[in-house]
Amino acid sequence: MKELRGKLIADRIKGECLDFVGKYNGILPALAVLRVGEKEDDIAYERSIKKRFVDYGLEVKDYELPANCTNEEFQEVFDFINDDPEIQGILVMRPLPAQIDEEAMLKKMNPLKDLDGITDANVAGVMRGDKHAFAPCTAQAVVEILKDYNIEMAGKRVCVIGRSMVVGKPLSMLLLKENATVTVCHSKTENIKAVASEADIVVAAIGKAKKISGGYVREDATVIDVGINVDEQGNLCGDCDWDQIVLKASAATPVPGGVGTVTTAVLARHLVEATKLQKNL
Ligand code: NAP
Repeated sequence: MKELRGKLIADRIKGECLDFVGKYNGILPALAVLRVGEKEDDIAYERSIKKRFVDYGLEVKDYELPANCTNEEFQEVFDFINDDPEIQGILVMRPLPAQIDEEAMLKKMNPLKDLDGITDANVAGVMRGDKHAFAPCTAQAVVEILKDYNIEMAGKRVCVIGRSMVVGKPLSMLLLKENATVTVCHSKTENIKAVASEADIVVAAIGKAKKISGGYVREDATVIDVGINVDEQGNLCGDCDWDQIVLKASAATPVPGGVGTVTTAVLARHLVEATKLQKNL
């Protein structure tokens, strides 16, 4: 079985970013990361973004608010980064605490700074297949991996398990654009094993450690594991049971080292694209 590792793809995207920064000397694309509270996962993600962006020649500006901040305090910081011409991209760590009016934030967010495709303008753009729309980075990362490893999508049956707004739904649109025949499964789908084991490509995005066993995958299928979970031993693992998948699939993404690695690189590429759009380059 072939391991579909993300590092080479991330390195290629790093090259694109460094080329941009080298070509437009004096323009330093900047991402604002807005975090409310001290959730461990958010802090870890923020740290990995910072480390990667420094390598890619890009800037990250942190904006942190306490978990008990008021909606007014949050909106004030958000308005500042949304309007600041020195910031070309915004990543808001979500979900936000209940007191924050997320809808109000989404309505005013500049779609050109919306690198993770959460505004209505980008959701609609992805639906239409608009090449300038920003798709959520994880969904885009799945397509990047399939393209980069020359795994045919056109005419193939793809089963996406999970229908969230950050992965399953936008990914189904991106796959349709690639002319795949897409089935989306979720927690109410009956007999997912039967549906998934018909597919040429299975994408697992459910957030359940090792739930997708060999029984979900037909011989020689490709498996993309989006999940990031912690198993009973405290180790990072995906939504797929890797030990079983390797016996059935022809190719699969590892966790860690697969989709997550490419997701952060796609975020970096989106920042460069956003900078070009905002500065008419
Ligand atoms: P989410 O918002 O919790 O959505 C999970 C989806 O999976 C829902 O649509 C849910 O169905 C479905 N689901 C849950 N249990 C299921 C089951 N037993 N059978 C079938 N469907 C089931 O999660 P998410 O944000 O999409 O994230 C999914 C996973 O990807 C998580 O492990 C997350 O950590 C990971 N992730 C990774 C990256 C990355 O960069 N690699 C980025 C984002 C997320 P219903 O809609 O019916 O509830």
